[in-house]
Amino acid sequence: MVTLPAQALIDFVAAIFHRAGSSAAEAGRIGRYLVTANLTGHDSHGVIRVPVYMRWRNNGDLVPDQTVKLLVDTPALAVIDGGFGYGQTVGPQAVEIGVAKCRQSGLAAIALRNAGHIGRIGDWAEMAAAAGLVSVHFVNAAGSILVAPFGGTDRRLSTAPFCVGIPRAGRPPIVLDFATSLVAEGKVLVASRGGKALPKGALIGPDGVLSEDPALLYGPFEPGGPRDHSRGSGAIRAFGEHKGSGLALICELLGGALTGNGATSAPRRFANGMFAIYLDPARVDVDQFFDGEISRYVDYFKASRPAAEQGEILVPGEPEARMRAERLARGVPLPDDVWAAIVGTARDLGMSDQDIARATG
Ligand code: NAD
Repeated sequence: MVTLPAQALIDFVAAIFHRAGSSAAEAGRIGRYLVTANLTGHDSHGVIRVPVYMRWRNNGDLVPDQTVKLLVDTPALAVIDGGFGYGQTVGPQAVEIGVAKCRQSGLAAIALRNAGHIGRIGDWAEMAAAAGLVSVHFVNAAGSILVAPFGGTDRRLSTAPFCVGIPRAGRPPIVLDFATSLVAEGKVLVASRGGKALPKGALIGPDGVLSEDPALLYGPFEPGGPRDHSRGSGAIRAFGEHKGSGLALICELLGGALTGNGATSAPRRFANGMFAIYLDPARVDVDQFFDGEISRYVDYFKASRPAAEQGEILVPGEPEARMRAERLARGVPLPDDVWAAIVGTARDLGMSDQDIARATG
């Protein structure tokens, strides 16, 4: 295990993407958002993605320094094409447009298509919440068919995340943010690289037998070698039986079909589609009731008697906030395998050991 201070890791990832043709501003954003995923405990969406992004960039599947194109632009609605730019660039551009329209109209809907991987969707809910807005995000990941619908064994869905953010005055927002699969694909990736094991029965084989062996998704793999989910015979299961599978379908239909991104159906150039709704609670909450009522209700919710001894009831967003505080203080831990793959990517771009040592402090 290697443990690095967050800022050193941000700088290193930024140096890698700057060398790979991104402007310093974009490279910095990629570093910051990927490391934020690690800081919040979502290692699956953190710096483990560096080699994958670089493969996409080298194939031309990701295009540096894109500016989104507005295909539809009304006071409360935009349809936006991300042009296969890095999600860390076109994601915040799309959210900025949603926030600006919502400030004007009280309510806005933004359909984003053809975005490179936009990572942890909670980042976008946090950005809206920082502007005082409620947001709801339906996302699909076209080109990434990984998940079997309830009752099925063949892959038909992406891990299609769903996210809701609710701002609170003077407190961190409530952010519910999850893949509609039992685990995000990145968690299978992490498990395959020696990180946290998968929960029991997270995967399903073609014979309908449940498993937690990453090889079911990737096929046989070498410890340091690449992971290619098109080579596995199994699928990740949708969470929550028919309910989660139904929510995943809605994410495919709104995040994929409605945005024009395309619902996931065949291997293709990767693109996230996101249909997001932004709402200004100040415009709805004429009695200034909302924030106080959230506090009252959250206290009531958390006061439920814990099921386990020493147990505790948390609200969505709390585990991430705690992990962020811990990892900011203690550093970001990375399995050796993950670190070696990132260093390998840096070396492929011509960074010397000296450059690497300098970039990581
Ligand atoms: P997860 O299973 O860890 O669930 C996270 C959510 O559950 C958070 O809202 C968290 O606050 C809440 N939570 C966790 N433990 C809790 C507890 N004990 N009590 C109350 N709430 C709790 O998340 P996941 O499904 O593994 O997804 C990980 C990340 O992957 C997310 O950020 C998601 O957006 C991202 N993702 C992105 C894509 C993409 O294509 N860009 C695809 C899939 C997933």
